[in-house]
Amino acid sequence: MTSPHILGGKEPCIRQRDPPPPERCTAHKWLNEKAREEFANMAPGPFELYLSKLAEEKIRNHATNAAGDRLEVMGLLLGNVFRSNGTVYSLVRDVATTDLDSSSVRVRFSRDGMEKLFTALEDAGFNYVIVGWYHSHPGHRCFMSPTDVETQKVIFNKSFHSAIVIDPINKEIDSFCMENGKVRSRPFAVYWDEYQNPYFGETVKRKRLANDPKHIRSGKH
Ligand SMILES: [Zn+2]
Repeated sequence: MTSPHILGGKEPCIRQRDPPPPERCTAHKWLNEKAREEFANMAPGPFELYLSKLAEEKIRNHATNAAGDRLEVMGLLLGNVFRSNGTVYSLVRDVATTDLDSSSVRVRFSRDGMEKLFTALEDAGFNYVIVGWYHSHPGHRCFMSPTDVETQKVIFNKSFHSAIVIDPINKEIDSFCMENGKVRSRPFAVYWDEYQNPYFGETVKRKRLANDPKHIRSGKH
């Protein structure tokens, strides 16, 4: 990934704010046994990372859509950084991505895709901080490769920066960060907003469009 300039700028001002309450948080459905145990040890929080239901869905759908061709995907995590009782945590509210140059083992933003990325960032519609990045390892499980660690060290080197890795083929997700120059896992919770339906972690389903002519002709609803 080669776009450090979009991450430049000043440190975010970290305000005090309560994290999403435990009744609006849950573990991601794709955590492996170890990650699920880490989640349980940290529950009910505060966690260092909260992923909105919306961001979760976009990351999962992005990775799943490219999984058929075994292509990696990536994007930026947009959110805010807050503090609660001494814990600094990131709230990922949305994600942004663009056209990619990717194979099954590497990915980067395409050079021609930067304008689209800036448009996606402008469209975020809130005063975001880039709190990390996500990328997929289709069929390779979730870990931080030497290249991923280098990316983290060079570009996402703030303590609130996270790396979400998702494997849409094995249905696995994990999150990492750097601490004292070493990678460690960073348990996270999926949260939903008040009055939003809870997160159940359904698999991605192709939905038929209501105006699909075949659908109308078949008379099914
Ligand atoms: Zn990777």
